Amino acid sequence: MMFSVLRRRAAYALTAAALALFMQISPGPQPLLADETGGGAKSSKSETKPEASKEAVSETDAVELQACCDAMNKLVPKLKFKDMAAHENFSEIGRRIKRIANALKNGGVLFSPDGTAENVPLEKLDKMLADENERLEEAKKALSRTQKELDEMTAAAQYIESGSPEKPAICPAKGVYTLTQDEKLRYRIKCGVHGGSEEIRAKLYEKAMKNTEPGRFCRGNMSAIVGACERYAIDYGVPAEWRTEELIEEGYLEGEYVCPAGGVYEIKGGGAKDFTCSCSVHK
Ligand SMILES: [Zn+2]
Ligand SMILES: [Zn+2]
Repeated sequence: MMFSVLRRRAAYALTAAALALFMQISPGPQPLLADETGGGAKSSKSETKPEASKEAVSETDAVELQACCDAMNKLVPKLKFKDMAAHENFSEIGRRIKRIANALKNGGVLFSPDGTAENVPLEKLDKMLADENERLEEAKKALSRTQKELDEMTAAAQYIESGSPEKPAICPAKGVYTLTQDEKLRYRIKCGVHGGSEEIRAKLYEKAMKNTEPGRFCRGNMSAIVGACERYAIDYGVPAEWRTEELIEEGYLEGEYVCPAGGVYEIKGGGAKDFTCSCSVHK
């Protein structure tokens, strides 16, 4: 299964793919927030045809953005390595919580990491959830960093990557990298010149969309979405319904995936494997 995921991802040779590594810094999720929206498995933005960008990214800008993104990607594994055990612990608790939360929404069907499922009484699930949330609070304490610590980590990671303070992993425009933690304690790097990874990703994505044959671009989108579903299902089990917003929120997709022809994506698949994503335009 992992092989098919990797193969799909390899096939999806867009610049955006470089950002996937960046997202792996995510130490994992917190408990699933109650989701009352019930938005369905359709991408909210795919209803309308995307507008052409007001300020198109030039070839030169794209190269520089990509280089900045590559430098960020070099730093991320070093940052993650520092607290590997604590991150793993936090992630594992988060995955259990998400599986339980999905089971609660799924009539008590609790998925195991191996894809098997069992029926668990709802009261038992509630108790399990409360216990795991307590563990998560403890695990969080080991991961929270002050801004000073984050700055020191960034400097150290830049040094480790280059092996020399003269050759650090730097932005091509000499933008200063600032490391922060989001509300889920995930590390986020922002470049003082080029912005955060989401901003960079959005610009490169838009450019790739303009320069790629629409059908091919759309198929790349669908491959990426299916790969994200597969990885999500390994970690959390299968949700009652798929929402691309949640895949983005949890870091399985780097951002919005939009059909160039305004097609609407629909994700199907109830088992632990074999998900399909279809486009209303490109089929
Ligand atoms: Zn930069
Ligand atoms: Zn399409």
